[in-house]
Amino acid sequence: NKKILIVGGVAGGAGTAARARRLDESAEIIMFERGSHVSFSNCSLPYHLSGIVKDCDDLVLMCPSKFAEQYNIDARVKSEVVKINREEKTIEVKKLDTGEIYTEAYDKLVLSPGANPIKPQSIKGVNNENVFTIRNVDDIDKLNKYVKNNNVENVAVIGAGYIGVEIAENFVHNDKQVALVEAMDQVMQPFDFDMAQIIQKELHDNGVNVVLSDPLTEVKADQVVLKSGKKIKAEAVVLAIGVSPETELAEAAGLKIGETGGIEVNHNYVTSDPDIYAVGDVIEVYSKIARSKTRLPLAGPAQRQARAAANHIYNIPNKNNGVIGTSVIRAFNYNAAATGLNEKQLKEADIAYDFVYIIPTDKVGLMPDANPLHFKLIYEVPTGKILGAQAVGKGNVDKRIDVMATAILMDATVEDLTESELAYAPLFSTPRNAVNQSTLVATNLINNRYRQVPVTKVRELVENDALIIDVREKDEYQAGHLINAVNIPLSELRERADEIPHDKPVYLHCRSGQRSYNAVLALQGRGFDNVINISGSFLGISFY
Ligand code: FAD
Repeated sequence: NKKILIVGGVAGGAGTAARARRLDESAEIIMFERGSHVSFSNCSLPYHLSGIVKDCDDLVLMCPSKFAEQYNIDARVKSEVVKINREEKTIEVKKLDTGEIYTEAYDKLVLSPGANPIKPQSIKGVNNENVFTIRNVDDIDKLNKYVKNNNVENVAVIGAGYIGVEIAENFVHNDKQVALVEAMDQVMQPFDFDMAQIIQKELHDNGVNVVLSDPLTEVKADQVVLKSGKKIKAEAVVLAIGVSPETELAEAAGLKIGETGGIEVNHNYVTSDPDIYAVGDVIEVYSKIARSKTRLPLAGPAQRQARAAANHIYNIPNKNNGVIGTSVIRAFNYNAAATGLNEKQLKEADIAYDFVYIIPTDKVGLMPDANPLHFKLIYEVPTGKILGAQAVGKGNVDKRIDVMATAILMDATVEDLTESELAYAPLFSTPRNAVNQSTLVATNLINNRYRQVPVTKVRELVENDALIIDVREKDEYQAGHLINAVNIPLSELRERADEIPHDKPVYLHCRSGQRSYNAVLALQGRGFDNVINISGSFLGISFY
């Protein structure tokens, strides 16, 4: 009988254990977890702060006794694996309650120790009792109790990534004054600057004090100090500035660590030792799009890697596609999802790209909860291969992004998706949805049937006195418009075409980009050869 030992009892660890049991009823499977719980929902932790998840115990999905009863898996909590002896194929385990150390032998060892929240010691006061990081149930319980017991009213959340934004939102729902402090010039790095503005505004509109381009330098008892010298009131501080893979155990055992700092693994998640596997946040993965090594600390990949590692132990072949990076978040009334690489990452990877930014409604406009869907599609030039997509809106952003993630997995091009047939009825979508529309526009761009400038260039156009024509109706224009923009509504465009010069570039916009797109094509059909759409249009511009 095979003896499989697993380090870490959450996403990757529990996933490996369960799959191994499904494949082999006779294996001896022991899972070691340093913390007090196995198999908890890391991703739901922030929701305890608002009371959406009332009881901490609800965060725990499976306890050791259930693992034993349902799966015949021996899950040992408060048990830290402190050493791997590769020659003897044993590990040393420390019982954290008693300090006792014992040895356990393995045929196969699987490492899924995850990643630690980063806590830079260069920040003064970072080890104070009012500074928290969130990784497990005990952490969130401790933070929640601290806030309650000390009547904390002001919280500073440092780092505006997924975890930071979720913690900020949940604290707002708990009536706290929240500052969200970010070292970079935008929130949510997986999104491009233009899309991040929408999320940023939503955070601001809901009372979050978003502070950008200003890293934390010092924590005091009742305030934080930023690099600029700015001081923000905060009796509790949550650090959510990223994670660092827990490679110490692997490193001490001489396993190979990759260039990105994660454990190096092969196609089947085997480390440099053929009897040791590694999965989850601790490993280095391969980016399918950038064609380079990267790290992707997300639950979905950890689960899939766990299954693949268990498969390989039992000689079942795996398909390793590399990672794409697909994620979703809610920030108050907005949802935001992204897949693939964004513009910044594509520039770093030196991949030539272009993009389309459209703002269709997510449902037929007559429906009561129809909302604009900000949708950005990024594709390779000149092949049209889909490289990434981002969607922000009040409705289901994830369903469109999931289509794009699937398309990327299958190496689809924009042309492949123009004909995609997706579910439609007025309550759910539009007959020509964001996927059809964005790929059709991209196809036109690739074929030079149409030109555009990104919404981020609008300020420059205005400053340079470029000719901008606003093709919205008069009442829309009068309610607010760009300085110096000339109003020629689409409905009057054809009869007023002779007011438009032929000898200079003409930039068009409307509310969402749809009417201006039609206006560009109408003018081109009338012999204008220098008309350019402002992608993102007025809705996009309004976030600047
Ligand atoms: P973990 O789940 O961290 O499990 C590793 C376990 O190993 C830990 O419990 C640790 O105590 C234990 N361990 C480490 N060393 C040892 C040792 N030597 N001996 C014994 N035990 C050890 N991902 C998403 O995809 N979507 C989300 O919405 C999302 N939200 C998140 C929200 C929060 C607050 C957090 C913290 C994470 C979130 N994630 C999310 C990330 C996701 O939880 C991780 O990617 C995933 O849990 C990684 O699984 P893992 O098994 O590698 O590591």
